[in-house]
Amino acid sequence: MYDTDVLVIGAGPTGLTLAASLVKRGIATTVVDRQAAGANTSRAAVVNARSLEVLEGLDVARRLVKEGVAAPVFSIRDRGRTLIPIDFSGLPTKYPYSLMVPQSTTERLLLERLEELGGAVMRPKTVTAIVQDPDGVTATFDDGGVIRARYAVAPTAFAASSANTPTSDSRAAHTRSRSCWPTSGSPEMLPQTK
Ligand SMILES: Cc1cc2nc3c(=O)[nH]c(=O)nc-3n(C[C@H](O)[C@H](O)[C@H](O)COP(=O)(O)OP(=O)(O)OC[C@H]3O[C@@H](n4cnc5c(N)ncnc54)[C@H](O)[C@@H]3O)c2cc1C
Repeated sequence: MYDTDVLVIGAGPTGLTLAASLVKRGIATTVVDRQAAGANTSRAAVVNARSLEVLEGLDVARRLVKEGVAAPVFSIRDRGRTLIPIDFSGLPTKYPYSLMVPQSTTERLLLERLEELGGAVMRPKTVTAIVQDPDGVTATFDDGGVIRARYAVAPTAFAASSANTPTSDSRAAHTRSRSCWPTSGSPEMLPQTK
């Protein structure tokens, strides 16, 4: 018995994009973040063409373009001197530019879309451990709560610090910035469309 199909740990851009994509497909998804509120600090300042293409499927690219500033040429400068001009204007894409937009805006728009689709982020909720077994994963929170999921996806920083990281398990899929604990089921077993 599962509380959710997928537990997404972390409501940064990656977690929110993943969660919205899953919810859009009708997959029961629970998103948690240890922070009481979304970060409003200045971090990433640019969204590039490929990300916008990917976010088109979620109807988020249009919203980002509306709030951002398109920069067809991005230059690295030393005071008045141009060191490296990077020209995006010839890219074969609907978005031949770098879109200047603060990460806090990107996260706000992704969260809005997730909520429109019926998802939500539970905060503050800190996962302290994930244990995998042949049928799923069990995550424990700092308040003692427990959630049972078929899959859990977490930031690598969490995975690296977790004693339960199944690094030697060939079924564990790792990406550059996230780690995923799949269960015995394959993604194809999850409902694909709403
Ligand atoms: C100061 C700074 C400047 C930056 N500048 C740039 C830039 O100019 N350009 C650029 O491209 N990128 C920049 N970055 C990097 C960019 O912010 C990250 O690449 C981006 O945030 C990664 O998104 P993410 O969703 O993968 O992870 P994050 O945004 O890190 O989100 C992970 C989330 O998981 C939550 N979390 C972690 N552990 C747990 C847990 N155990 N339980 C519950 N929740 C948990 C965290 O609270 C966090 O909200 C910058 C980062 C920083 C810090």
